[in-house]
Amino acid sequence: MKNWIYSFKNAAGKSKKLLGGKGAGLAEMTKINLPVPPGFVITTSCCLAYQEKNKFPPGMWTQVLKELQAIEEGTGKKFGQEENPLLLSVRSGAPVSMPGMMDTILNLGLNQKTLLGLIKKTNNERFVYDSYRRFIQMFANIVMKVPLKKFEDILGNEREQLGVEDDIALKTKDLQRIIKKYLQIYQQATSQSFPVDPQQQLKEAIRAVFDSWNNKRAIDYRNFNNIPHSFGTAVSVQAMVFGNMGQNSATGVVFTRNPANGKKEFYGEFLTNAQGEDVVAGIRTPKDIKKLKKVMPKINQQIQKIAQKLENHYRDVQDMEFTVEEGKLWLLQTRHGKRTAAAAVNIAYDMVKEGLINKKEAIMRLDAEQISQLLHTQIDPKARYEIIAKALAASPGAATGEVVFSPDKAEKKGKLGDDVILVRPETSPEDVHGVLQSRGVLTTHGGMTSHAAVVARGLGIPCVSGCEEMKIDLQKKEFQIKGYIIKEGETITINGSNGEIILGRVTMIEPKISQKLKNVLVWADKFAQLNVHANADYPRDAIKARQYGAQGVGLCRTEHMFMEQERLPLVQKMILSQNKKERLSALQEIKKFQKKDFIGLFRVMNGLPIIIRLIDPPLHEFLPNTQEIKGKIVNARGKEKEKLEKMLQAVNQMHETNPMLGLRGCRLAIIMPEIITMQTQAILEAALDVKKEGKKVKPKIMVPLVGDVKELIFVKKEIEKAAKGVFENRGEALNFSIGTMIELPRAALTADEIAQEADFFSFGTNDLTQTTLGISRDDAEGKFLNQYQEKNIIEESPFKTIDQNGVGMLIKIAVKKGRSVKKGLSIGLCGEHGGDPKSIKFCHQVKLNYVSCSPFRIPIARLAAAQAALEEKNKK
Ligand code: ADP
Ligand code: MG
Ligand code: MG
Repeated sequence: MKNWIYSFKNAAGKSKKLLGGKGAGLAEMTKINLPVPPGFVITTSCCLAYQEKNKFPPGMWTQVLKELQAIEEGTGKKFGQEENPLLLSVRSGAPVSMPGMMDTILNLGLNQKTLLGLIKKTNNERFVYDSYRRFIQMFANIVMKVPLKKFEDILGNEREQLGVEDDIALKTKDLQRIIKKYLQIYQQATSQSFPVDPQQQLKEAIRAVFDSWNNKRAIDYRNFNNIPHSFGTAVSVQAMVFGNMGQNSATGVVFTRNPANGKKEFYGEFLTNAQGEDVVAGIRTPKDIKKLKKVMPKINQQIQKIAQKLENHYRDVQDMEFTVEEGKLWLLQTRHGKRTAAAAVNIAYDMVKEGLINKKEAIMRLDAEQISQLLHTQIDPKARYEIIAKALAASPGAATGEVVFSPDKAEKKGKLGDDVILVRPETSPEDVHGVLQSRGVLTTHGGMTSHAAVVARGLGIPCVSGCEEMKIDLQKKEFQIKGYIIKEGETITINGSNGEIILGRVTMIEPKISQKLKNVLVWADKFAQLNVHANADYPRDAIKARQYGAQGVGLCRTEHMFMEQERLPLVQKMILSQNKKERLSALQEIKKFQKKDFIGLFRVMNGLPIIIRLIDPPLHEFLPNTQEIKGKIVNARGKEKEKLEKMLQAVNQMHETNPMLGLRGCRLAIIMPEIITMQTQAILEAALDVKKEGKKVKPKIMVPLVGDVKELIFVKKEIEKAAKGVFENRGEALNFSIGTMIELPRAALTADEIAQEADFFSFGTNDLTQTTLGISRDDAEGKFLNQYQEKNIIEESPFKTIDQNGVGMLIKIAVKKGRSVKKGLSIGLCGEHGGDPKSIKFCHQVKLNYVSCSPFRIPIARLAAAQAALEEKNKK
């Protein structure tokens, strides 16, 4: 016959999967001689066997009775007998922690007979009736599904009539009266009388705990947390110990370290004269565990010792449940303590210093995604606030400020030091100066790759986009959402980490990279094989990137340099120019600005590689939209009007049905080579200038959106021609390299041809995902992709985590083909996947040289790169 049951004594070493987390913990604590009330675990496989046939599998009950006998022998008590009766707890416990999701029944075995025996034994009537009351309530609710409210109402009425606030104030007589009413309720609700046979009680309780695996809240919790429904729950049956026997008894919860900040101190709560759920039930306010020292000094010492022992045993923070019965301490549960990001870092670091774990373990324990909380301003988890709407979480972090509708005003106020939130229908390149000075950005339209979102992420400014239900009235200077009217100057808060828009000011927690996190990241860099570079467009991004530990700039998007206020008119002039001469003169003006930016970047990065990408977006992105121009034309006169009309014509001419697949990237460079001539000059002249200052420079020029090697050959010739000109002019040359982005499927598939002309590759996985899947991100995210997720067609957005089977396959092909031509070809990945831990793992596996991501995700990427390398090593 199959063995369905293990006593705590014999179970140590069996898996959590079989025993459940709680059962495994109880067995482990028993093994290391901690005071655990005796008991046994009915396994998860028994639960599965039960569920299949809806009855206990053969042999189980006999085994239960046998183990019960062992408990009786261990405690000297007898189950169901009047003299010295044994009471049991019947506890659920899943392989993965699902706190509070399933059920536990306490004080099982009580009936009129055992009740009297227990009174005789303990000489404590009140305690016994209190336990009986609790038992009836739990059994009725969990086994027979009688609503808890019916019992709580009775209890509440009694308290009210007696004029007391606390259950402790209820005397024996009161409890007896309550029990009578309880039993009546039970009879009414179930048409049965309350079971008196303890064995029957036990059978039904075990069955109910098995069934609680499939109650609604448990199923919802598993769906939400991706826990398989096939696990089943174990059931622990255990001798009761009583925290409700008087002032000398107590129950509580304690963490071995503070889970909020990681400090090595006791953290938790306790209640004297209480049982089970009282600590969390909320009727009585539990006391801080630090007070235990005063109330029960000896117990406090014992717990301290045990905490140390458990931490050393598990080599991690433990969260323990304990009960004190008349001055004797019992442990009822232990598990890994859940902790905040800040605590996780501090604990991992401290435990290495204490010699409890090694550096590799410390790194593997951290959750890279969780760490990201530390890098952005967050809303204080304790804050209360009113959410008025929810839209796309376009750039993480939270910000409070007064609503401003015009970028000019945002810039002015921002420079004065005011906190402003720029609220726009959408943002265009023309708004950048306002965005730069804002605390946060909120837009009606636009997805995750909208201009606002991309710029905000790069700058680390929180952004909520695509809030379609927000109606902005620029004339009246107000916006409306769901009946709320918010006027300019009023304060709102946005949370770019989850898309919430909040009324008024909210308390925030400022980001902080602690010294301990910095140290852990330095350890991480030693294990990582991937380098981590930053996407940085401005010198100030590069400064941030270096602070966060970037080893280079993997992507500098030069077009962002076109967008700032004083430059945009020049760019527009360049675009609208009638002939080459006009265009060249405008370009010469723009060059001055670009050169200045590059000088800044080269200085900051001082010898670290910088990859500068030539202009990528279609030109009409630099022009206002037709609506806006038409609006202005109405009021314009003379020359101004003429200019606007010309602009309108140009914008109309440039209109593209599908700009993502239109004239952009290297195509633009091929049609208007003078733009890249200018850019090449700016890059190399800047490099020469900074070199003259005695600094090292490593410029790398990158050509975007190449699909055919012939495109690259064409652009390369132009770059080389321009370079030759610069070097001749200055009488001095400089090493630089020319590489390409791989962001079209054709480029990946012909990577061997392209590699012959390229010094390096960088995967632009955003475009590569769009062009491989045929999905435009802005039209999908926040729209149908959500439904795809709900309908289980995709697990995660392919724009967040690389689609390994499709896009990932193209990457693999390109790496293989590229390196088949050039053995040591440097290959990286830039774009948002470069900051996503799962995608970083993939990049490690396919042996890229680096990933490049937003400065604010660099710590996450460094950690994830180390974890990927360590995980691979562990497998080998
Ligand atoms: P949960 O998974 O919801 O925490 P538990 O099985 O841990 O459920 O039970 C909840 C509470 O019941 C425990 O925290 C403890 O206070 C009490 N309890 C459980 N078993 C016993 C026992 N053998 N003796 C005394 N109290 C118990
Ligand atoms: Mg528990
Ligand atoms: Mg691209």
